[in-house]
Amino acid sequence: MTRLLDIPPSDWPSWFEKKGLEAFQGKIASRQVFQKGVYSWELMTDLPIAVRNRLQQESPLTIANLEKVHKADDGAVKVLLAFPDGARVEAVGMPGTKGRTLCVSSQVGCPVRCTFCASGLDGLERNLAPSEILEQVFSLRETQGDFGRLVVMGMGEPGHNLDAVLKALDTLIQPAGLGMSARRITLSTVAPKGTLPALAAWGRPINLALSLHSPEDNLRHELIPGVRLRGVRETLDEADHLFGRTGREYTVEYVLLNEVNDAVEQAKSLATLLAGRRLHINLIPYNSVSELQFKRPSRERQLAFAEVLRNANLSVTLRRSLGGEEEAACGQLRRRSAPSVRP
Ligand code: SAH
Repeated sequence: MTRLLDIPPSDWPSWFEKKGLEAFQGKIASRQVFQKGVYSWELMTDLPIAVRNRLQQESPLTIANLEKVHKADDGAVKVLLAFPDGARVEAVGMPGTKGRTLCVSSQVGCPVRCTFCASGLDGLERNLAPSEILEQVFSLRETQGDFGRLVVMGMGEPGHNLDAVLKALDTLIQPAGLGMSARRITLSTVAPKGTLPALAAWGRPINLALSLHSPEDNLRHELIPGVRLRGVRETLDEADHLFGRTGREYTVEYVLLNEVNDAVEQAKSLATLLAGRRLHINLIPYNSVSELQFKRPSRERQLAFAEVLRNANLSVTLRRSLGGEEEAACGQLRRRSAPSVRP
């Protein structure tokens, strides 16, 4: 079954024609879905009832079931979606000064198994299709209204499902789609081999968040085991090259793990490595995952690490931690609900 949402909205008119329907009806449909937020054929009253009934049978627009909505004290709202094959994904809407930011997942589970992350604990269940990434956006939009920014920072490694992720982002950016500015989109990745050159070739000016976590190759490989990585320096050079293509400065993400990667000496190595590059550093104090042994560094250690970087004239944000919010870390809502069932 072709899912219409897997096809770029600019191609919807020809898809309708191929089905023996009218091209203009494809235009009506994309306007209804993306501009008006109508996500089911039944509600698309601008189309004749016979057309709606047929499309509902042959190609339903959305197939996910909204299984859970979790509201956190800080205003973040997380949704858990279940697909017909039992796969579950989570997506989050977070309040911000420039409207809500949506965070979507790129895979069900994650093959990368970062040693401090909940998403990879059970490995990869499967990739998500572009339509399934878009359904997360729709579900958040339906439950929480319009949004200003979108980050691909939920479950999964976008670099391992890049074609589908970029197709979904293209749909959000296309004028016939959501018409969103690429500058409001951020993709977070550990940068598996080939990912950054592929983003440079794609060329859209989205923002890159590069999950680095260590200035040293060996420790980085230990923390990010399940994937082929290039060296830290080569990876940063590729990110610089991407910046040359898109004009978007990038963010280096660094999860602070007590007595693993948070020593002042490591901050100094990081500062040397990052000096002269056009980037921002986002330090993320480790969020506790009950199954894992890591600890969040004390506030003093966090501040000392940030201070070394600031003294080297680097731009740094030290994320204030959202307390011990139970469901805060990636992949936890899904793990806490019943395991996925496959037919
Ligand atoms: N796979 C992508 C995107 C998903 S994770 C990536 O790694 O970038 C999004 C961010 O959350 C990453 O920077 C990741 O390192 C971080 N993260 C994962 N688990 C965390 C935890 N327990 N505490 C703090 N940050 C975490």
